[in-house]
Amino acid sequence: MRYRVGILGATGAVGQKFVEVLHDHPWFDITALVASERSAGKRYRDAVNWIGTSIIPPSVEDMIVQSVDDIPDCDIVFSGLVADVATEVEPRMAEAGLAVISNAKSFRMHPLVPLLIPEVNPEHVQLVRCQTWCGPLVTNPNCSTVGLVCALRPLHDAFGVEAVHVTTMQALSGAGYPGVSSLDSLANVVPFISGEEDKLASEPLKLLGRLGEGGIEPARMAISAHCNRVPVLEGHLECISVKLRTRADANAVREAFETFVSPVKSLGLPTEPEHLLHVMDKDHFPQPRRHVMLERGMGVAIGRIRPCEVLDVKFVVLVHNTLRGAAGGAVLNAELLHSKGLLSHRALSKAP
Ligand code: NAP
Repeated sequence: MRYRVGILGATGAVGQKFVEVLHDHPWFDITALVASERSAGKRYRDAVNWIGTSIIPPSVEDMIVQSVDDIPDCDIVFSGLVADVATEVEPRMAEAGLAVISNAKSFRMHPLVPLLIPEVNPEHVQLVRCQTWCGPLVTNPNCSTVGLVCALRPLHDAFGVEAVHVTTMQALSGAGYPGVSSLDSLANVVPFISGEEDKLASEPLKLLGRLGEGGIEPARMAISAHCNRVPVLEGHLECISVKLRTRADANAVREAFETFVSPVKSLGLPTEPEHLLHVMDKDHFPQPRRHVMLERGMGVAIGRIRPCEVLDVKFVVLVHNTLRGAAGGAVLNAELLHSKGLLSHRALSKAP
């Protein structure tokens, strides 16, 4: 038996990545595509402005796009909705018994909603047991947060992280479709992305926090973020400096990255990369154009590990924003829920 899945916001930049990741998934079958009234009632290929480099999968191109007003006939919905719409739609879908796996920011900091990266904080998934909706609702972090926290996890475990300074160079696809206008983005850098610096300062504290009796106790560290939009198609590059609680040099930091073992490796989740962290030696690596598809877009590249003159150690991280940072990460979250027996009763009856 397989799960029937719907994609909310199926015509957007993240929704299209969901289509790419899910159309040949070993456990999931796409049975519903959902978007705004502008798209509802049209065939998917007529409603979408397809920006992928592969063709629209033939299995979905003639599906009729549905409205978010209706509850799709499926077990799980993957949400790539804009946040103001997600705030109303996602709890309604969960209340109807669907498992909701969201990318939107609406419920990321809700005390009963796991903010999940399976390789970073898989134990937080247990929070869904405290939810009162009929189906579970989980979220994945902001796309830049994903790259930052994947790198911080082994450092926080080994040395404790006290302070972080991060400057991001974020790809255009991070702004969705059609996103930033060509006159603003071509041969230019925009040194502001609305709301992004606040997310980078707050989401890591929940992700690296401890799950206890009273919910998640946030990690204690100071994070300062600068976020910039740059003329790159896919892949957020992040220059990160860290201050550690136990002093460690660049070699020790490198070893922590290289010896990191994913805590969910034994579960055999289909979308998990072979290795999460890839340390690169060349001084001019990682680069978005060359390395963004590492591990099918699910790996995180780290380079330029060296002493920091102000904090302790600095390095550069590259993360694929619409795969690892959005659709791929969300699919991995659903796989983790399944492996822990935490998808809804309705979905569980169809478990593979
Ligand atoms: P996008 O390209 O603008 O897509 C938005 C989607 O939402 C479209 O499918 C659109 O449908 C639908 N939508 C808009 N208004 C709607 C309404 N009133 N009712 C129903 N559906 C509506 O945005 P995106 O970049 O894919 O981002 C989607 C979500 O993922 C956002 O919450 C974003 O913050 C989050 N996210 C994005 C990234 C990234 O790298 N892009 C990474 C992580 C998280 P129509 O085409 O029919 O208008």
